[in-house]
Amino acid sequence: MSARIVITGAAGFIGSHLAETLLDRGHHVIGIDNLLTGDVANIAHLSNRDFHFIEHDVTNYIYLDGPVDVVLHWASPASPIDYLEWPIPTLKVGALGTHKALGLAKAKRARFVLASTSEVYGDPLEHPQTEQYWGNVNPVGPRGVYDEAKRFAEAMTMAYHRYHKLDAKIVRIFNTYGPRMRVRDGRAVPNFIAQALRNEDLTVYGDGNQTRSFCYVSDLVDGVLRLMDSGENEPVNIGNPQEMTITQIAEQIITLTGATSQIVYLELPVDDPKVRQPDITRARNLLEWEPKVPLAAGLERTIDYFRQKLANVDASR
Ligand code: UDP
Repeated sequence: MSARIVITGAAGFIGSHLAETLLDRGHHVIGIDNLLTGDVANIAHLSNRDFHFIEHDVTNYIYLDGPVDVVLHWASPASPIDYLEWPIPTLKVGALGTHKALGLAKAKRARFVLASTSEVYGDPLEHPQTEQYWGNVNPVGPRGVYDEAKRFAEAMTMAYHRYHKLDAKIVRIFNTYGPRMRVRDGRAVPNFIAQALRNEDLTVYGDGNQTRSFCYVSDLVDGVLRLMDSGENEPVNIGNPQEMTITQIAEQIITLTGATSQIVYLELPVDDPKVRQPDITRARNLLEWEPKVPLAAGLERTIDYFRQKLANVDASR
């Protein structure tokens, strides 16, 4: 059945992929974004489809006419360099923006899905991370603005679920990569790919032995939409459990691009988590979901996207 679905943060990396997949499935999508870190280029190709875009900051009241079946609350800066540059907007969208998005879902009796994050686990003392783990977060460190905003957003979402009986879901998204990440995104995969394609040194922070587990965006979207369609109301991790060191992924990107780049080691950012790997037992059991795209295939597609994007960026210099 065709639904009317609101996506906050629809012009962002994951938001735009969600919008496109939902349109492919025959739904009507209303995308909202204030374009702080999102980009209309990510949704330009959706303009002739059943897609309506509203430029709006969701920390302010969201007024929409007509019925809404689902609200997907994706709006937030999500790269460490973004929340260092925009600490207060990051706190506001996680807190006030989540409140407004929940209020919209409540008013429309819509289902609600919160984009939460593995950052709620902080620099984890349990490994891999299950949804039962409460985390190890520094509230006053530079990353605290994102981590605590998302932890507050989870608390608010559960309160609306318990008190207002809202059908709310929480997805804890682990590191995700793919086309439509920005050239200047600041996160490891887009940084390394852009650097490799320009034959510049790859900037690994710290000793490069910290680990992450990278999920290709189409797998992530599939998991999110399965959760949206499920009867589950407790948090679910969605991510790829294949863990590696940051040096390993940098080396793989050098190999796949054929770059002559070297790796340089720079200072580790404050509170950078030392390990991260999702335990996806709940997603496997509840959603019959697991990631399918192998790392090399996902990286190839992302490298192709960046090749084209950089050709445009570098040509316009
Ligand atoms: N990182 C790096 N070089 C970069 C960007 C990131 O070594 O140019 C490291 C970062 O310090 C972290 C890991 O890669 O240990 C993943 O960082 P990212 O910003 O992608 O996301 P995070 O998982 O920290 O939210």
